[in-house]
Amino acid sequence: MKLLAALPVLLLACTVSLRAATPEDCWALRKHGHGPEANACFEQLTHSGRPELRAEGFWGLEQWEQANEQFRVATQSPDSKPAYKVRWGMLLHERFNDADAAGLFREALSKDPSNAPAYVGLAALSAEGFDGKAMEYLRNAIALDPKLADAHELMADVALANDDRVLAAAEADKAITIETDALDAMAIHAALELISDRSPDAWFAKSQAINPHYGEGYALVAHHLELHYRYEDAVAYYRKAIQADPRLWSAHAALGIDLMRLGKEDEPFKELQLSYDNGYRNAATVNSLRLLDSYKNFDTIRDSTTILKLNKSESALLLPYIQSELHIILATYEKKYQMKLTGPVQVEVYPNHEDFAVRTMGMPGLGALGVTFGQVVAMDSPSARKPGEFNWGSALWHEMSHVFILSATNHRVPRWFTEGLAVHEEGERSAEWKDRVTPEVLLAIRDKKLLPVANLDRGFVYPEYPTQVVVSYFQAGSICDFIKEKWNETKLLDMVHSYAKLQTTPEVIQQNLSLSPEEFDKQYFAWINQKYGKEATQFDEWRTKLKALYAAAQQKKYDTVLQKGPAILAMYPEYVGDANVYELLADAYQSRGDSRSEAATLLAYVRQSGEMPHLLKRLATLQQAAGQSAEASATLARVNYIYPVKDPDLHRQLADLLYAQKRYNGAIREYEALVASHPVDKAGAEFSLAQAYFSAGQRDKAEESVLAALETAPGYRPAQKLLLELQKSPAKSN
Ligand SMILES: [Zn+2]
Repeated sequence: MKLLAALPVLLLACTVSLRAATPEDCWALRKHGHGPEANACFEQLTHSGRPELRAEGFWGLEQWEQANEQFRVATQSPDSKPAYKVRWGMLLHERFNDADAAGLFREALSKDPSNAPAYVGLAALSAEGFDGKAMEYLRNAIALDPKLADAHELMADVALANDDRVLAAAEADKAITIETDALDAMAIHAALELISDRSPDAWFAKSQAINPHYGEGYALVAHHLELHYRYEDAVAYYRKAIQADPRLWSAHAALGIDLMRLGKEDEPFKELQLSYDNGYRNAATVNSLRLLDSYKNFDTIRDSTTILKLNKSESALLLPYIQSELHIILATYEKKYQMKLTGPVQVEVYPNHEDFAVRTMGMPGLGALGVTFGQVVAMDSPSARKPGEFNWGSALWHEMSHVFILSATNHRVPRWFTEGLAVHEEGERSAEWKDRVTPEVLLAIRDKKLLPVANLDRGFVYPEYPTQVVVSYFQAGSICDFIKEKWNETKLLDMVHSYAKLQTTPEVIQQNLSLSPEEFDKQYFAWINQKYGKEATQFDEWRTKLKALYAAAQQKKYDTVLQKGPAILAMYPEYVGDANVYELLADAYQSRGDSRSEAATLLAYVRQSGEMPHLLKRLATLQQAAGQSAEASATLARVNYIYPVKDPDLHRQLADLLYAQKRYNGAIREYEALVASHPVDKAGAEFSLAQAYFSAGQRDKAEESVLAALETAPGYRPAQKLLLELQKSPAKSN
């Protein structure tokens, strides 16, 4: 809270005793660490004849309800000052009611369009939500009142989250010039030093001279360390925050959340409960406590290199898939990045998207599918999403790349590069998992909205247009593709090592690619234009034609679809979203009974990263009917990476195919998945599993499964026969 330029405290204290206290006096005392004097000052305000002063008094005494009530009284009259509404809004923001706070800031602005603090209020809400408007609001505030230190401090804060270090330092300096006790600006400077691995001591010394108990400063530093992936360091600074001010409940909660991100449970619970009990009940605190409580519903499965946390309802089904994929990933990355992780990696898989979302609260960016904190990965379960929305396999390869890169750089890597490399790795694992050039990306290419590489981080945290985060992921990934194509993949690893040595992006580009960042941009933009420029320029034409084609398909005008479809497809073959041409064409071929063309079209869809399970299963069925058993099982295996849950038929079909191909290990895995999917015919599933074990020469397991089948259906003849056979013939190896 910055309301008053610093005054010598003694003078201030005696001023208070000579005349009625003002809120500015009281807040200044608080800010300077004079707790008892501040409390006396606030107490005095609560006896004021003016409700807006009583409100400030109760606020300072942390009597939130009374403060709220007094602001309500103060703003009742139609000609009350807009400033009261702004202050009320700030109180509500502090007390976790951002919706009403935003309403109050807007009301204040409608009455007084030049109310700079109201813009700062709106910016504070935007900044916390990473919604991208924060900078615009702050520019408005500063244009109206260049001397508003709060606005400069918040701008420094937002700039640092964007990793715009030059702007962050400049704005922090402006705040300090305006108010010599701009403690948050000093904290931003300290964070800047730490992020650049320099000593922050001088800045902490400055702020401690003003108020040694200013915990918020350490907490702000910790927050920026978190945003720069420095989770362990953030813990240390949240601890300092609490040490400086043990009653700083927000820091207790943030410490708890940060520790959770590092895979801890007991201390986070203690810290979060403490803040909750002391009335600090923001969404992150409440939801994190709920999440900790829900851990009792999870199985923890450990081996020497992995710890998996899977919900009990689906752990039997998912474990074999995720664990084996994780081992492939570890082996691949160890070789590729030429390093080993120091301990096991923990992967948490959440079937309830809200639980996963708790893990990303207060974090910028998409955070939509997975998130990595050091050696802990949290992600959605396939069951948390609609079928076709999410590929857990590619998400896991993506997140695990972060685990390695964070470790390789000791958590010193810019966002754009670690995200870009992770996106690139998805495409390296499988061409079908490559990031798709979606319509928003094409539009960004057409409208020249891609960012220079040196500023690419800004597209991730506070986006300047709604789709910028998605576009930035694509751009970062394609930059890594470009580097591999033009130079080679080793260059990417060299860049990792340069970042580990704390080089900046311009230095890293110059040193490893022998180009200035500007020249690099030029070459990259030319490359991306070559690839997608034509598609981008004819995007509108494509969209119009697709709409017409879709309408024709709706009216079952299949001749039109077959006649016009291929040309529209060729205009933008990467499009596999809603109403894509592949599906329209496949339907048209189906109506003509041309199953060969239907299958060829669906296969082309899959090759372009199409992932709707119903289309993949349709392709598999066509392949199976055409006698392409190996192709059919490969297609169904793709579905396992997308939506292996709630689909016993998928596992039955794939298992039978693999069994017929004598691929018994695969068949066993799929029959096990079938059993774990709670099929209607449980005995039949167990019996099939027994047969697969028997064929694979695993007689003990076969007996276990056949007994399970008979337990469900005692009179099941084929199972009885198999059991007899198992019991009479002596064990033999396969
Ligand atoms: Zn990522």
